[in-house]
Amino acid sequence: MIKELIIATGNKHKVEEISQILKDLNIKVIPMSDMASFPKTIEDGATLRENAAKKAKEAAVFYNKWVLADDTGLEVDFLNGEPGVYSARYAGQNCSYEDNNNKLLNALEGVAQEKRTAKFKCVIAIASPQAQIYFAEGEIFGIISGVLSGSNGFGYDPIFFVPEENKTFAQLSAQVKNKISHRAKALQKAKEIIKKING
Ligand code: IMP
Repeated sequence: MIKELIIATGNKHKVEEISQILKDLNIKVIPMSDMASFPKTIEDGATLRENAAKKAKEAAVFYNKWVLADDTGLEVDFLNGEPGVYSARYAGQNCSYEDNNNKLLNALEGVAQEKRTAKFKCVIAIASPQAQIYFAEGEIFGIISGVLSGSNGFGYDPIFFVPEENKTFAQLSAQVKNKISHRAKALQKAKEIIKKING
């Protein structure tokens, strides 16, 4: 039975997004920042799945509680799936969101719109205190735009254009993004898993 769920991220945007989607479940969602500090997981997995599982498992065992962790990658077709698992540190260790966006815009300079297709992929791992892992995944397709547009959200949002909405993620309200995003889709699946676990 999951009564409390720790969210293993330091990203406030994500905690808000996740809390919003899980709010109708009768469980207490706790950001990891509210817990005793925990040795940061080294995300050295070869896949998003490995990293998400590692983050969830290490924290679940440390706190002896249920933990939800996510790992996201932006896969750009023209770059053979890069930055993928390296999305957070695409422009180097300790780089900013701006550095990553600029590096990606430079890598795609002069590339025609129809070749700028990409997808965000999110893998969620939910770990029990005994380190049993459940996975949920979600994806959204888009196009990497040529310039930054919009100021909402975070990360690659200003350059991730969603054709169905005719806007970048950063031009969408949080409400709309949280309905259609890779993480929203993975979270809806995670929600079903939690409901099943709680019977
Ligand atoms: P992480 O797995 O959440 O650490 O994400 C890896 C990288 O993808 C980071 O650079 C994030 O900023 C970026 N990222 C994750 N989710 C999103 C999103 O919803 N929009 C834009 N960028 C994101």
